[in-house]
Amino acid sequence: MPEIRKKYMEFFESKGHKPIPRAGLVPQNDPTTLFTGSGMQPLILYLLGQPHPEGKRLVDSQTCFRAEDMDDVGDNRHTTFFEMLGNWSLGDYFKAEQLPWFWEFLVDQVGLEPSKLYVTCFIGDESTGVPKDTESADIWKKLFSEKAIEAKEIELPGEEGSGKGMQEGRIFYYDARYNWWSRMGVPANMAEGEPGGPDSEVFYDFGTPHDEKFGKNCHPNCDCGRFLEIGNSVFMAYKKTATGFEKLPSPNVDFGGGLERIAAAALNSPDIFEISLLKPIIEGLEKLSGKKYAEHSESMRVISDHLRAAVWLGVDGVTPSNKEQGYVLRRLVRRAVRFAFDLGIEQDLCQRVAPIVADLYSGDYPEVAKHRELVIDVLSKEEKTFRQTLRNGLAIFRKLTHMEIGQIEHGQKINVEHQKLDFPVPISGKMIFMLYDTYGFPVELSLEEAKKNGMQLSDTWKNEFEKAMSEQRKKSQTASQGMFKGGLADHSEEVTKLHTAMHLAYRALKNVLGEHVIQRGSNITAERLRFDFSHPQKVTPDQIKQVEDIVNQKITEDLPVSWQEEDTAEALKSASGAFGDKYGPKVKVYTIGELGNSFSREICGGPHVERTGQIGEGDKKFKIAKEEASSAGVRRIKAILE
Ligand SMILES: [Zn+2]
Ligand SMILES: [Zn+2]
Repeated sequence: MPEIRKKYMEFFESKGHKPIPRAGLVPQNDPTTLFTGSGMQPLILYLLGQPHPEGKRLVDSQTCFRAEDMDDVGDNRHTTFFEMLGNWSLGDYFKAEQLPWFWEFLVDQVGLEPSKLYVTCFIGDESTGVPKDTESADIWKKLFSEKAIEAKEIELPGEEGSGKGMQEGRIFYYDARYNWWSRMGVPANMAEGEPGGPDSEVFYDFGTPHDEKFGKNCHPNCDCGRFLEIGNSVFMAYKKTATGFEKLPSPNVDFGGGLERIAAAALNSPDIFEISLLKPIIEGLEKLSGKKYAEHSESMRVISDHLRAAVWLGVDGVTPSNKEQGYVLRRLVRRAVRFAFDLGIEQDLCQRVAPIVADLYSGDYPEVAKHRELVIDVLSKEEKTFRQTLRNGLAIFRKLTHMEIGQIEHGQKINVEHQKLDFPVPISGKMIFMLYDTYGFPVELSLEEAKKNGMQLSDTWKNEFEKAMSEQRKKSQTASQGMFKGGLADHSEEVTKLHTAMHLAYRALKNVLGEHVIQRGSNITAERLRFDFSHPQKVTPDQIKQVEDIVNQKITEDLPVSWQEEDTAEALKSASGAFGDKYGPKVKVYTIGELGNSFSREICGGPHVERTGQIGEGDKKFKIAKEEASSAGVRRIKAILE
């Protein structure tokens, strides 16, 4: 067992605490959250007053996982998985015991240098009548003085932290944003009846230089990495009332301290990945890749963190899937595999690394030993599937990009200028999204692949990608709610369908009535489209029927809808626009049908459905409900999908 966890448990057991087992990473009976993210979370009912079967003094080490930190992993201190050491007083002891015990643990048991410790306390809240926490500060002052350290008190409310800085202080008072705990955050956000209270944090000073990116001056709550918070004692002493706060009859202590952080402080290393629970994984990666941690720290940190978390999620029964916890596990494995590419590890990553993780925990957590083989197997399979996905995606990426060149070369006349470019059609965000959404091909890989092959990306690929993503999200929300009968959710989807239907109708009108038909105006709502066009006489019922038939035929053919950016002069030769529209040097052209053999090409900003078949979803047909005169020489049709 890592020394520090063991010492902590034994120390608090010697102070009358009962050790309790960790709760799983997937919370039981709590639909509001996917993962156990703090030591307090599984004990909240007891902190709110329910008696705990093990009594009033508890100690544990809670495994925690925070998916929201996934993208921050890579620096020297963020991890998604960690253990939180916790000791709890359920209406028993309070500040006078808690602060000296934690101090004794840090200084005498772990052996931290007292001069490297700094503490924070709550500055008080006038509006709700909660006083400044001088009680805690006085206890700290005494503890520091026993080590011959003068502990100057400094107030840093609001933004004064970076403005005023350390000022040779040792005990720092901050406002509620830093030193107040409640389920709802600061006192003003709390509901009547909610418990909360001030907290007091201990920081370890690594003595690294301050980075002015994080503010002018350094102070304990600065994010530059010089100070690391290694423990927080929450004194849950108040209940919110209509007028302010009242004291709880028997207040609680809720202490949480990151095991990995305390271990890093014990090593006096600001790099958390140097500790005994992470270093063996890093060393395994060095061996596997033949590369040095110092030169590849980001990739090795991400892989170590993610696979450690993945093993633990597996131990707690999560399997890779496309939703909820399973999706998070899948992301962890995929990200690890991706980062392993940078190290040149192209196979058997999980097979080689997961056992190292399991070995680190098997001795202390029998459940890890028990599920070891199963978890390694599940993760390895997920890795294999993903590698296959990557290979498929790569093949499709190459095919798609070459196909686009081919189609343009064969299907359309292109000018000499275009031919000189390596890649005449820039890769659009929509295509990157399609690869990602349909084939699971990561965006980063599309970008890398494009770069490797000297292909040009559309200037606005990011926007296009995000737009496609949000459309997709809207679509799946609508689908999952079964909402097709009106209401806000399907509004834009109906409009999008009718917009594409309008392009079909425009082309069909030209086919039936003649090329003199030019768009003169349009208006689309969720219910119907209105289209004005130049034509000298009434459109006959027979002609209307022909137009409807053509449009419905094209819907049945389920033609692809795509767009390209083109030179305006070139686009106008083959694409239709609206009467009187002014265009810049480049325009967006929407094509319905295969490029080079299209049914309709129109200068337009979109958005459109991806395939014409979507217009007919729910067995709908295009119908012209009305045909009338709009103005001299201009006719108007109103059409619906029914
Ligand atoms: Zn700083
Ligand atoms: Zn349009």
